[in-house]
Amino acid sequence: MDNRFLTEDEKLLDTGWFSDVTVKCGDRIWRLHKNILCTRSVWFEKALTGRFEESKTGHVDIQNFDPEAIGWLIRYIYTGICDIPALRPGSKTNFVTCYEVHTVADYFAMTSLAKIALDTLAADFDARLGPVQMQYEPVDWLDELFETVKLIYQDVPLTDTSALSSSSSSPIRHALVTFVHTARFYLLQNEAFTHFLDEAPPVFALDMFRAMRTTGDFLAHLPEPQCFLCRNKPTRSEKAYYTHLAPEKMKLHAACATCANKRDLLPCTSDWSGKGLP
Ligand SMILES: [Zn+2]
Repeated sequence: MDNRFLTEDEKLLDTGWFSDVTVKCGDRIWRLHKNILCTRSVWFEKALTGRFEESKTGHVDIQNFDPEAIGWLIRYIYTGICDIPALRPGSKTNFVTCYEVHTVADYFAMTSLAKIALDTLAADFDARLGPVQMQYEPVDWLDELFETVKLIYQDVPLTDTSALSSSSSSPIRHALVTFVHTARFYLLQNEAFTHFLDEAPPVFALDMFRAMRTTGDFLAHLPEPQCFLCRNKPTRSEKAYYTHLAPEKMKLHAACATCANKRDLLPCTSDWSGKGLP
């Protein structure tokens, strides 16, 4: 983008020179410029040129956002720049800030800012995936991940499956589910994460299940319908005929109860590492 004039625009923002509009949010007031706001934001154009009260008074009162987030939005409108890591220097990760920027951008129909938030979040997730998949302990961002999950899922109904599609209507939720799903082998063995699943919004756990289902996580390749040792086929009356043996290329081998007992095979209520299922 040609940004030769952006520093001048930022000067207008910082000084309030030639201001003809005021925007108030919480305890903050900005003295702004109708021409800049209306040419760069459809939301402000509608508010300031339509039949709304604001277009007569030149005063916009925003109540449903934090002043901090409105400040980010306004600075972006004036400069076209939003450096998310710099918004809250010192915070370890960006998850929550990305979500908040995305929310304010989405509400005020600033598509390019929403994209910056989403891209930053995706890059942040990407940077964290490798170390997690390699099980390099410890990760220091779980608490912020949990906070982000709670924020993103606060109003999602159980029947909403839109997070699973890559053309999702909630792209930020899609990015989150994709990340958690990719990192699941680490996360599901992490005590804090499994504890969090008990208190998280139920639809988050459901989304994980849905994602795991689509990638075949629960698809046991069915074993041969006969004992792999004695080749006997079970009759309908035999109970618990199959027991399982460690997977070979993800294929289950089944053994009859007699062979399983002889060979000391694990019962089918144990996982592959020998841990009993609860
Ligand atoms: Zn057998």
